[in-house]
Amino acid sequence: MTSSYEYAGIIHCHSVYSDGTGTFSEIIEAARQARLDFLLMTDHDTLEPLDKEGEGWRGGLLLLIGAEVSPLLAGTEVGSLSAGAEVGSLSAGAEVGPPGNHYLVAGVRAVPPRNEAPQSWIDRVRAEGGIGFIAHPHDRGNTYIKLTALPWKAWDVQGFDGIEVWNYSTAWSRYATNFSKAALGVFFPRYCIPGPEPDTLAKWDELTRRTPCAGIGGVDAHALRVKLAGIPFIIHPYRALFRAIVTHIILPEPLTGDFISDKARVLGALRQGSCYIANWEFGRPSKFAFQASHRRGVTGMGGRVQLEDAPRLEVSLPWARGAEIRLLKDGRALKKARTRTLRWNVSERGVYRIEVHRRRMFRWRPWIYSNPIAVE
Ligand SMILES: [Zn+2]
Ligand SMILES: [Zn+2]
Repeated sequence: MTSSYEYAGIIHCHSVYSDGTGTFSEIIEAARQARLDFLLMTDHDTLEPLDKEGEGWRGGLLLLIGAEVSPLLAGTEVGSLSAGAEVGSLSAGAEVGPPGNHYLVAGVRAVPPRNEAPQSWIDRVRAEGGIGFIAHPHDRGNTYIKLTALPWKAWDVQGFDGIEVWNYSTAWSRYATNFSKAALGVFFPRYCIPGPEPDTLAKWDELTRRTPCAGIGGVDAHALRVKLAGIPFIIHPYRALFRAIVTHIILPEPLTGDFISDKARVLGALRQGSCYIANWEFGRPSKFAFQASHRRGVTGMGGRVQLEDAPRLEVSLPWARGAEIRLLKDGRALKKARTRTLRWNVSERGVYRIEVHRRRMFRWRPWIYSNPIAVE
């Protein structure tokens, strides 16, 4: 494997600036305790923290501030852990959208207007040089807890950088379908949180066969405060979610401490899909690697390589015990290996990605999802 530099970060987090319960200082402290390298805050439809809190290095944590854009809704409360509860007042001529179509943006100074169509948000973010990801694309809500489904519906859009392949809130909602499951999901999330939505993985595989489309993981943290039998309790506190669905970026050079250039490189890696998603509940997988060696050199995740250059896919894990590497081509399983390394000489064009599952509590649990390497 070639030398590279890996940084672990949390994406998609809400604070008191929207419907989260944590202040920035509380959230930053939780990120530090989890030994994260970067944190991308995404409050609903506001960039107020950009001015009030400011981006930058906070000790060893790179703090970035984006937003989660959502359409204006007509008279409907969006009663969800993963959505802003407030409903914007409609101005004349405003476009009214259905619940859903949430878009994560970063690297911009202005939130795209909520009364515009999603394609307009995407175009505005691109024009400003920012990045944008479709959030929780196949969120189903939860009828037991009365969470509104917030899927992405505007699939005719173009120009987004990627999609949130694994969203903690969507995963938890899918699991918590009755009282005992909801309680287990709150108190023992480790063995309850399912992997990415199968529909989202299928959509991602479909998209990456046509165009580059980065996959990221998001925690969608709100740290909702409730009272159980009169005792204050926090559902999914920041410190717990910051050790769950983590996005690891891979850079060719280390970050330098210069905020402007470091921010550009972190956002650039996310845009290119030079990253993988890992659930730290099943181990902190530093030094997971997936790359293609070929006649012209080495290509990493999110990259493209020519079949004529005889690519060989190489996967390595920090350890092999209880882990299974799954190589997929165009969304279909090609090879499974319970080893620490896997090599595969590519003989067909296609889009190749890796999943790693770990055996825990008698079942294979979702652990790592790589971005793909396209062989053209
Ligand atoms: Zn959210
Ligand atoms: Zn959302």
